[in-house]
Amino acid sequence: IIEVSNLSKSYGTLDVLKNMTFHVEKGDVVAVIGPSGSGKSTMLRSLVHLETIDGGGISVDGEALVKDGVYSKPQEIKRITSKMGMVFQHFNLFPHLTVKQNLELAPKIVKGESSADIARRSAELLDKVGLASRASEYPARLSGGQKQRVAIARALMMNPEILLFDEPTSALDPELTGEVLQVMKRLAEEHMTMMVVTHEMGFAREVASRVMFMDKGEIVEAGHPEPLFTNPQHERTRAFLNISL
Ligand code: ATP
Ligand code: MG
Repeated sequence: IIEVSNLSKSYGTLDVLKNMTFHVEKGDVVAVIGPSGSGKSTMLRSLVHLETIDGGGISVDGEALVKDGVYSKPQEIKRITSKMGMVFQHFNLFPHLTVKQNLELAPKIVKGESSADIARRSAELLDKVGLASRASEYPARLSGGQKQRVAIARALMMNPEILLFDEPTSALDPELTGEVLQVMKRLAEEHMTMMVVTHEMGFAREVASRVMFMDKGEIVEAGHPEPLFTNPQHERTRAFLNISL
C-alpha cells in the first residue's frame, strides 16, 4: 500500500532521515524499532504529512503524496493522507467531547455518511475495543489504556487502509499496556495493515510480519521477526537487541 523511496529529511544540519527506502504491503504488520532519536517518529509523521520531507518519494496505492521531493496539490495530499489513520503516544483525544463524540466528529465533518450509519459504526467499534459502556464518558474519566483504545476506535472510524502507531503504549503503566496490545493483536489477526513504532519487543516478535530496525535515520536491517531477533546480521542491531530484550 505504501511505497517509500530515498526519503530524506534534515533539521538544519542534522540529517534525521537518510535515504530510507521501504514498502508496506496489504496485511503487513510492520514493527519499527530503534534507539531514541533514530528518526522513527519523524518517519511515521512524514507518511501522513505531519512532517515535510526534503527529498525522495512517498506514494500510497500507487498515487504520489510526494515524488522526488515535490509534493502533490493540497487536495491530493488530503485525499491520500486520509487513507492512513494515526494513533499517538499521548492519545490526543478531544477533552471536551465524550467518547462517542470523539469517534463521530471526523466522519460527521467529512459528510457523505448518515448520522445513523455513523452512530451504528461508532457503537460497533467501541464494542470491538471493549468500551461499549463508556460511550457517554469524557476522556478525563478514563484510564490511559481506555483512552488509547478510544483513540484506536476513533482512527478506525475513517476506515483507513493502514493504521500507523507511534509508541501507543509508552505512556501507559505496565498493567494497562496489555489491554492495548491485545486490541492491536486482534486487528492484526483481522489483517488490518499496520505500522507500529514500539519498544514492546514481545509484541514485535509475536505479532509483526516484518520488523524494521532503524538507527541514526537509516534502516539498518529489516525482515521477518524470528531471524532478526534470533540472528541479527548487523552489529548495531545486535547491540540494540542486547539492551532491549
Ligand atoms: P524516540 O524513540 O525518543 O521517540 P525517535 O526515533 O522517534 O525517538 P525522532 O523523534 O524522529 O526520533 O527524532 C529524530 C531526531 O530528530 C532527533 O535527533 C530529534 O532531536 C530530532 N528532531 C525531531 N524533531 C525535531 C524538530 N522539530 N526540530 C529539530 N530537531 C528535531
Ligand atoms: Mg519517537
